[in-house]
Amino acid sequence: MGKTILVAGAGHGGLAVAADLARKGYDVTVLEQKAEDALGYDWTDIFAPKALIDAGVPYPSRSLYSYKENMTFFPPAQSVALTQQVPQDELEIKMERRDIYAHLIAHARRCGVQFRFETQITAPLLLGSRVCGVYAGDEKFYADLVIDACGMDSPLRTALPAVCGVEQAIGTNNTAYVYRAFYARTGDFAPEHNYEVYILHQGRRELAWVATEDDIADVLIVRFAPFGMDEVQTVLDDLRKKNPHIGEQVVRGGQFAKIPVRQPLSVMVADGYAALGDSAFMTVPLIGSGIANALKASHILSRTVTDDKDCAFTAETLWKYQVGYFRLLGAGYAEMACLKNALLTMEPAEIDFLFERGILTEKQVTITANTTNLQSMLKMTMKELVDRAKKVCTDKILLTKILRIASQIASASALCAMMPRTWSPQSVRKWTVSYNAAFAKQQRG
Ligand SMILES: Cc1cc2nc3c(=O)[nH]c(=O)nc-3n(C[C@H](O)[C@H](O)[C@H](O)COP(=O)(O)OP(=O)(O)OC[C@H]3O[C@@H](n4cnc5c(N)ncnc54)[C@H](O)[C@@H]3O)c2cc1C
Repeated sequence: MGKTILVAGAGHGGLAVAADLARKGYDVTVLEQKAEDALGYDWTDIFAPKALIDAGVPYPSRSLYSYKENMTFFPPAQSVALTQQVPQDELEIKMERRDIYAHLIAHARRCGVQFRFETQITAPLLLGSRVCGVYAGDEKFYADLVIDACGMDSPLRTALPAVCGVEQAIGTNNTAYVYRAFYARTGDFAPEHNYEVYILHQGRRELAWVATEDDIADVLIVRFAPFGMDEVQTVLDDLRKKNPHIGEQVVRGGQFAKIPVRQPLSVMVADGYAALGDSAFMTVPLIGSGIANALKASHILSRTVTDDKDCAFTAETLWKYQVGYFRLLGAGYAEMACLKNALLTMEPAEIDFLFERGILTEKQVTITANTTNLQSMLKMTMKELVDRAKKVCTDKILLTKILRIASQIASASALCAMMPRTWSPQSVRKWTVSYNAAFAKQQRG
């Protein structure tokens, strides 16, 4: 076959698609800016292990992972605690990020993938509007197809010519700024719940978790604007009032990072180009998990590439990948993005109301690998829905907000259903304008 494929970035999605395509006979090279032993972050991740199987990657050794514990959610007033009830067969696993990468890299090498670490991609190499490789500084790498798995700030996606129609900016309120550190556990205080999540913590536009293990307290802080160590200290002081076992010493992590939390990218392909994982905004918008989705999408992309028997790798032949992704996951995540945008406009008292009146229950906070759309998240019978609606009716302002959110979700869902099934520049452009405008309008309020 001999067709050359470059995968930009050795993230989860990039490594999985590289392995699958090399196994199928393509000449695949992964270019990664970091050294092999410096990949990822110094902490654990949670993901659905079945996604590895979907991507054609073997399960990791049992000694490398444990099962994720149920999370307990608190509204701003901390008046109610709702604990997830994840069924046994939907449990996600917790694994060191470095071990996940090592597992994926070992598998990719066995499949024949070549690696160039410490190679920073700086821009796409273009022939007209076709991507025909990448620049890494002065060095040029040519390819028949470039798979962009460089993450949310990809230097490829953000430098494509406008004619490709691929959005470059991530948009307002679509970046979750995160600080995470593992603190040494101190004293003999034992929290009531091992994995506590605080929504609109202290009434701020912030989410914080404290996951307690034998020796450490894993603290995560999420906001929608950048913040610094002075603000981390304020949050820690607040968390320690309820969790005095969070010690002072940072044992691991202690880093800031970013996660895209928005609707999937409106156009994921161009001639010679396909975006995958965070560079195509494939995380679950409500929680920021992206590993399983990047893995699942890698399989759809690999299938699309092999179906292109002429190896044209044009926007037209690659469009099938986008259609497949939206059908499996993207449409549901577009709905969830509407809900995330709406939640950002809610007042602490409104969130308290939803928890305290039983409008949200343990069922709705049980978000698992199978929660790929709002229907699977809400898990309500018609009777339950009517019952909850009656409760909301007692608060007219909240009712108005919820009706508006419902109409936004319905319109996002309709738009996804209208996505062209086959590619033509006119129909894709027309659809993209409507899709992007709907979310922009929602964010303007
Ligand atoms: C704090 C935090 C916690 C998270 N926790 C979870 C979790 O528990 N579960 C979960 O499912 N998801 C989690 N995520 C999200 C998850 O990390 C991503 O969604 C997932 O890694 C997507 O993988 P990816 O392949 O798209 O990109 P990434 O994993 O981001 O990989 C991109 C790769 O590209 C490389 N790269 C970037 N720019 C260049 C360049 N110019 N040249 C060469 N290489 C480049 C990077 O070094 C990196 O190796 C978390 C994210 C953060 C920040």
